[in-house]
Amino acid sequence: MAQQFGTVIIGAGIGGGTAAKALRDGGYTSSIALIGADPAAPYYRPDLSKKVMLEGSDPGDSALRGEDWYPAHDVTTLFGTTVTELDAKQQNITLDNGESLAYGQAILATGSTPRAVDVDGADLGNIHTLRDAGDAVSIRSQFGQGNKVVIIGGGWIGLEVAAAAKNAGCHVTVVLRSSPPLKSALGTEIGQYFEELHRANGVEFVTDADTTGFSGTKTVESVQTSAGDLPADLVVVGIGADPTIGLAASAGLDTEDGVVVDEHMRSSDPSILAIGDIAAAQNTLLNQRLRVEHWDNAVRQAEVAATTITGGDSEYDWQPYFYTDQYDLGMEYVGHGASGDDVVIRGDTSSGEFIVFWTRGGSVTAAMNVNIWDVGDELRALIGRSVSAARLQDESIELAEL
Ligand SMILES: Cc1cc2nc3c(=O)[nH]c(=O)nc-3n(C[C@H](O)[C@H](O)[C@H](O)COP(=O)(O)OP(=O)(O)OC[C@H]3O[C@@H](n4cnc5c(N)ncnc54)[C@H](O)[C@@H]3O)c2cc1C
Repeated sequence: MAQQFGTVIIGAGIGGGTAAKALRDGGYTSSIALIGADPAAPYYRPDLSKKVMLEGSDPGDSALRGEDWYPAHDVTTLFGTTVTELDAKQQNITLDNGESLAYGQAILATGSTPRAVDVDGADLGNIHTLRDAGDAVSIRSQFGQGNKVVIIGGGWIGLEVAAAAKNAGCHVTVVLRSSPPLKSALGTEIGQYFEELHRANGVEFVTDADTTGFSGTKTVESVQTSAGDLPADLVVVGIGADPTIGLAASAGLDTEDGVVVDEHMRSSDPSILAIGDIAAAQNTLLNQRLRVEHWDNAVRQAEVAATTITGGDSEYDWQPYFYTDQYDLGMEYVGHGASGDDVVIRGDTSSGEFIVFWTRGGSVTAAMNVNIWDVGDELRALIGRSVSAARLQDESIELAEL
């Protein structure tokens, strides 16, 4: 007979790891199983493209908490174990070792799967995506003075790896289908700012180029693009990720671009919740369904899910938030801007310290502080408010007075 758990958490990343703790912190006394395909205990994934790449730190140093926390709080852990089937009717899951576990509640926190480039030669060695600790350690081990690193894609992960590879003395080229990088997240003007930042640090860009193939003997030696061939010792593919929703879809849960959940993280099956990168969740502040691929979202949704299970009524009612560090640039972004929104800059971008606002129809949709700190609360308070561009730009007016 299948072992029975009060709650099974499927996926032991940031969301799953936080959910286990939030359940115990919230006084949940039933049994919990935390199951993750990654052999490591939950860790802080953003460090993989920052501390691990830049400083060569051990991903184990980024663990959310010590491994002894789990047994001490009566959380059964099955790391290095994949859930192969979710039977919503029977409230049962099957593991890759053939065992089954029964559950009262299930929390799905299976994260995202990086997209691969589907071209000839993609199975050569030294071509990587970056999602887990193993990927980060492999990529880092191939950095070296003068090594030729080609990064395909100019999203957050691609640019953070570019900065780290450059820092390690590599020759770095970023291949972009369209320019500038980060255009879909930040729009053209601020995307160009990031492109200039990288160019100033010696990164080369090949723009408006499709990757058409890789060649080499065992490992990659060259990347073919529609703009010409590039020599390469290491390729990092950073062209985005898709939510890992196979289990949810085959269990018959409502899925769109993610697992559809309400503001309490409940899916279309009342005994299954979904959080983090996979959750297409109803945001009550913005009054729209959102799927967000950022750590803060996974942590906070895990806390909401735990509250839902323990009988509370917390809801998904906050603005998205994330940050990045590249070279000497550190930034935080709050809100939900679109690439076509108007951009208003407060301060001088050439100083490296400024704030960007995105506005739509006169209302602030998002804000980003670059190398200016402790302004998060003021910026958050401005989202959704109507403030003229002239006032937003005027540094003589305190943020709190806008
Ligand atoms: C390199 C990198 C850098 C990042 N940097 C930032 C940043 O600076 N700022 C920011 O806000 N966000 C950043 N992110 C995004 C952030 O890490 C994610 O949004 C966050 O990890 C999502 O949490 P999650 O719990 O939904 O998924 P994850 O943390 O991805 O965890 C999902 C886990 O589920 C496991 N899993 C999947 N399927 C199964 C299955 N069938 N059975 C068992 N286990 C399964 C996976 O192995 C994985 O460990 C970064 C991501 C990466 C990869």
